[in-house]
Amino acid sequence: MLDSGQDLIDVRSPADGRVVGRVPNERPEAVSDAVAALRRAQPAWESLGPKGRAVWLRKLRDWLLDNDIRLGDVLQSETCKPRAEAALEVPFVCDVINYYAKNAPAFLADEKVRASGPMSLPKRLSTVYRPYPVVGVITPWNFPLALPGLDVVPALMAGAAVALKPSEVTPLSAVELARGWAEIGAPPVLRVLTGAGQTGAAVVDAVDYVQFTGSTRTGRAVARAAADRLVPCGLELGGKDPAIVLADADLDQAAAGLAWGGLFNAGQVCFSVERVYVEAPVYDEFVARLTKVVESLRQGADDRGYRVDVGALANQAQRDIVERHVTEAVRAGARVLTGGKPTGAGTFFEPTVLVDVDHTMSCVREETFGPTIPVIKVADEDEAVRLANDTEYGLSATVWTRDLARGERIGRRLDVGAVNINDALFNLFALTLPHGGWKSSGIGTRLGGARGIRKYARVQAVTAPRGPQLQGKLLWYPYRAGRGRIVSRALRAIVARDLLRRFRR
Ligand code: NAD
Repeated sequence: MLDSGQDLIDVRSPADGRVVGRVPNERPEAVSDAVAALRRAQPAWESLGPKGRAVWLRKLRDWLLDNDIRLGDVLQSETCKPRAEAALEVPFVCDVINYYAKNAPAFLADEKVRASGPMSLPKRLSTVYRPYPVVGVITPWNFPLALPGLDVVPALMAGAAVALKPSEVTPLSAVELARGWAEIGAPPVLRVLTGAGQTGAAVVDAVDYVQFTGSTRTGRAVARAAADRLVPCGLELGGKDPAIVLADADLDQAAAGLAWGGLFNAGQVCFSVERVYVEAPVYDEFVARLTKVVESLRQGADDRGYRVDVGALANQAQRDIVERHVTEAVRAGARVLTGGKPTGAGTFFEPTVLVDVDHTMSCVREETFGPTIPVIKVADEDEAVRLANDTEYGLSATVWTRDLARGERIGRRLDVGAVNINDALFNLFALTLPHGGWKSSGIGTRLGGARGIRKYARVQAVTAPRGPQLQGKLLWYPYRAGRGRIVSRALRAIVARDLLRRFRR
């Protein structure tokens, strides 16, 4: 546990506990000074316009690509994820940059709005998008480069300055992002503020919009603090995502897809598959195939080797949660078909398949955020849907079936922000789809085309005269009987929808 008075934070490798970096534990006063500096720099950034800002974001993309091998090393040093997974984060952020750099001019363009009726006809009307001056982005430890990139890029493209507070567990990749921004010579509108919870709280206390990703518990505290200051917040929180395997599914595809969806990043993905409901006729066959896939996975640290499938958990505390969920399930009658314990090295926990689990167990009720796949037999689709919805969370779900129309129909019965049919996690890669949780999994969305950048802008309504200033002459002081009567009769004639009411005196 981090002492809030500490000046520096040691960042440790999950593989062996060795210190791989050190970052400042920024105090609240330093945060408010940094945000004040961002606030001063922001107007010039906004005035560059989306095309001018895109030039800098594209330079950042090129810097990321030029440094991708080193960035992969940094990512692995602080997470111990397999190289195949670490190597995805740079291209993912570049894809977000390309999409918003290309589309921001259209997404942020003034919208000419039509009059709603004769009363507003004398004016030209437009909606203008103006950024929140400083956006605070607070991120967790599971994707140390991709998650900051997902929110920092659209916020910068919107014209905001950004204070990024990465997780104290994995801050090194975010520090690299800031290094890249400085090395390309970009304006000083991105600051990385490292530190623990109190640094995050100080960010919430200083910025104009908070984009938070993390646990539901911290999300509630952030929402309360933002409400006190009357600043808006977007919350991307925890999940307990269900999968439904129907009797007509391609079982090899379902087993391979769910092994990946449950174990990618050692299960530390908000959209991880954390519960699998299988229709009774194919339950035994599915469980056998899933277990075979999971047993075949290679675990460890591979540096640049692309040699392992599953890495470590981010830290000891996370490994303890996973171990508790498995131990409590087994104590209550569940069976471990493969895995089930820490490997003994670092913070690794074996990829695990659990059966004979039920809805009273912590492994089904609480977010595990680890490499476990609990499987439950259900009688039919109705029981699967009922159990899938029996949770406080609502991030995403997957449905596995050869009947795509049925899959989509079931998707509409699930209380979640995203549904993948015959795939897992895929919605994350579709930048034109909104990404957000229902119920206790969040408030608002990120990405999703234009809305993903407009969320960082305030809307300004602008009116200007279309011709002579009629309104002023008719509505302004001094009020006079004759003109007043003419105006009220004219208004009645405009809003009434039948002759009698239109001309009654
Ligand atoms: P966490 O809530 O412990 O921490 C998240 C961040 O909040 C960290 O940077 C932390 O320092 C900061 N923080 C802590 N207290 C704060 C406070 N009072 N005010 C402001 N900031 C504060 O989460 P974690 O353990 O780092 O990450 C795991 C969680 O993140 C899981 O629940 C996972 O589901 C969730 N997550 C959600 C998404 C999503 O998009 N929905 C994506 C990734 C992770």
